[in-house]
Amino acid sequence: MQLQHLLPHQLQQAIRQGWPLLVPAGCIEYHGPHLPLGVDTLIVEELCSRVARRVDAVVAPPFWYGPTGYAVTGPDQGTVDVSTERFGRHAKDVLGAFWDIGFKWIIVCQHHQSVDGPEALAIRQAAAEVAFEKTLAERGKGWWGRNPLPVDDNVFERIQVWPSVLPPADKVATLSDHAGFYETALILGARPDLVDLDRLGMNAPWYTHASSSSARRATQEAGARMWSAMVDAWVDKLAALTKPRRPTPKDVTITGLF
Ligand SMILES: [Zn+2]
Repeated sequence: MQLQHLLPHQLQQAIRQGWPLLVPAGCIEYHGPHLPLGVDTLIVEELCSRVARRVDAVVAPPFWYGPTGYAVTGPDQGTVDVSTERFGRHAKDVLGAFWDIGFKWIIVCQHHQSVDGPEALAIRQAAAEVAFEKTLAERGKGWWGRNPLPVDDNVFERIQVWPSVLPPADKVATLSDHAGFYETALILGARPDLVDLDRLGMNAPWYTHASSSSARRATQEAGARMWSAMVDAWVDKLAALTKPRRPTPKDVTITGLF
């Protein structure tokens, strides 16, 4: 279910039942003459929607405007860049609001520049700050030192950033691609109406016809295989994350990075 489509009682039910909130994070960036500007956001939005058809989850509207660093093109080709620092502050506000709504799990889905790029790092920093600041406000100073956290206390895992391509999907898909075989196949597999392979002429940029990843070889079938593997990997990881945890006999466990 999409967050923006929920009625209040549906939201309350999702919170009560511990449904994860999936948050797509992307950007507007030039992706060659044959793909739309929103590729990286379309991929994570599509992935979250497909996952939410398999498991109980709410999908938030995406972060559409993320930092790109104008690495691929300038604004003349439609790329949008925003300040990483201000983006991170905005992300912190939004993630903090999701925390306050009561979502037990907030999983950001990242494709653009993978999980170590400026956008993902800004979100990860925002997530850590939200987790620490909200918990301090809720539990008071010394909250971690007072008693061991129960095993089902998910404070350190509540907001996470996951790449669109998780293992084992990395056997058929990759994040090391820009407008080449992989991204072209993914968009062909989800929104073929947005792809125009005939635009790939002799002057197409190098990254669309690199020998390891040529967009010209992309097919809808290859895209379907990637989607299937990527969705399966997400569904499995979400199931492992959200399954109830029982204390073990040795129940004093150090949780967190202290
Ligand atoms: Zn991309």
